[in-house]
Amino acid sequence: LLRIENLWKDYHGHSVLRGVDLAVAPHEVVCLIGASGSGKSTLLRCVNLLETVDDGAIFLDEEEITSPRADADAVRKRIGMVFQSYNLFPHMTVLDNICLAPVKAHGVPRGRAEEEARELLTRFGLADKAGAYPDRLSGGQQQRVAIIRALATRPRLMLLDEVTSALDPALVAEVLGVIRELREGGMTMILATHEMGFAREIADTVCFLDEGVLRERGTPEQIFTEPRHERTRAFLSTVI
Ligand code: ATP
Ligand code: MG
Repeated sequence: LLRIENLWKDYHGHSVLRGVDLAVAPHEVVCLIGASGSGKSTLLRCVNLLETVDDGAIFLDEEEITSPRADADAVRKRIGMVFQSYNLFPHMTVLDNICLAPVKAHGVPRGRAEEEARELLTRFGLADKAGAYPDRLSGGQQQRVAIIRALATRPRLMLLDEVTSALDPALVAEVLGVIRELREGGMTMILATHEMGFAREIADTVCFLDEGVLRERGTPEQIFTEPRHERTRAFLSTVI
């Protein structure tokens, strides 16, 4: 579904991604782990074309999205991205936040967009919040709405960047529950996370990024119990 080939990204002459290769199959859940500054967010931002790449290529459904001829808006319509700070529009209700992109960017009729938004809210236990403004919701509820908003455009791929790290520990579980549910629904996802326990549970593939190099990848079992690379072992010993 997604293929990243020899991706390089520089900021001011410093390479932040150094020759990353990664393929993601339909329904696969990939977790990116690695120290702060290792390039996890940058990699996700490159996939969503929020960054230009300096070398290499990214293919979505066999189309090269990093080609200068690719239509960035059309590509972003096929990808849902959720950030650590949920960025809901404060002056809009939950329902309006969710309907905005389907109606404005995808041309879905308002009535149908609302119907689908209400279905998603019900599925994720937030049906009673449709008319509420974001500041009336807990952080965990706001993040769930942000995930629903990204889902509302029926993306092929979801990119989730540290979606629980701004939350109180008590609220983390409900957001992780939503991600689990997405996985069960077969959503293809790439998650950057500092939650090793969750990565271990949810990932099909764990990728360890180390100073912009994809140092090691494998099943959670393999990465967490028998990492092959010295750098992976060193990293895991600091976080587990
Ligand atoms: P964290 O776990 O803290 O979120 P990360 O793995 O997501 O870290 P990135 O945010 O991808 O790391 O950053 C990788 C490197 O790129 C860092 O050294 C960072 O300072 C640098 N960087 C990121 N964005 C920019 C930017 N817009 N301009 C310059 N440097 C940047
Ligand atoms: Mg980051």
